[in-house]
Amino acid sequence: MEFLNPHVACEKLIKALRGNGISDERILDAFRKVPRHLFVDGAMYAQAYDDNALPIGFGQTISQPTIVALMTQLLGLRKDEKVLEIGTGSGFQTAILAQFTRRIYTIENIGDLSVAARRRLREMGYQNIVFRHGDGSLGWAQHAPYARILVAAAAPVVPEALCEQLEVGGRMVIPVGDRKQQELVIYDRTEKGFEKRSAGTVVFVPLLGKQGWQKEE
Ligand code: SAM
Repeated sequence: MEFLNPHVACEKLIKALRGNGISDERILDAFRKVPRHLFVDGAMYAQAYDDNALPIGFGQTISQPTIVALMTQLLGLRKDEKVLEIGTGSGFQTAILAQFTRRIYTIENIGDLSVAARRRLREMGYQNIVFRHGDGSLGWAQHAPYARILVAAAAPVVPEALCEQLEVGGRMVIPVGDRKQQELVIYDRTEKGFEKRSAGTVVFVPLLGKQGWQKEE
């Protein structure tokens, strides 16, 4: 295995994130606090700080660092918001969000990934994350409304349930489009409805579920 100095590799990654438009120093600092090599298989340690998505098993990926940083920046977190995350995956994005939030609720529909992320983040000492194995396209009504919702899988349309569970004044960041390519969309909920903006083109794995894609589609 190639030798990895996580500190050096992480600073190189942070430089790349800056170059890709991530300007919020708090977010760049969060990347220093969450060692990405602990979220990938040992065989991939050497690539852990490359700005790439990497496989985490079950056909899923840990998201590209630039995308994790961009989505976090777009959410505009201050410190005390209640956040819902759909698509826990490895738990890396969850750990980044957990630096900025009072409480984060995260849902993953692959049981083994949910269990592994829960174990990993508990061992790392996170106390403000609540995990669930289930269909995140339906949100998590029990704890709604949320000030922020981040969806880390691609939806064909914005799930109605997630719109309902976003509080007035709240924001959702979600990739919407077809299975090959999506638009990263920011929805701000106002008294009058939803205001929509696009943050560019992205490629995510599909959001599978009742208000997402069906497996066979
Ligand atoms: N951000 C994560 C990370 O840092 O590791 C990676 C997320 S990965 C790109 C998307 C995840 O969404 C996958 O783990 C996938 O199983 C999950 N997913 C897909 N459909 C889902 C659904 N309906 N509910 C919850 N999770 C879902």
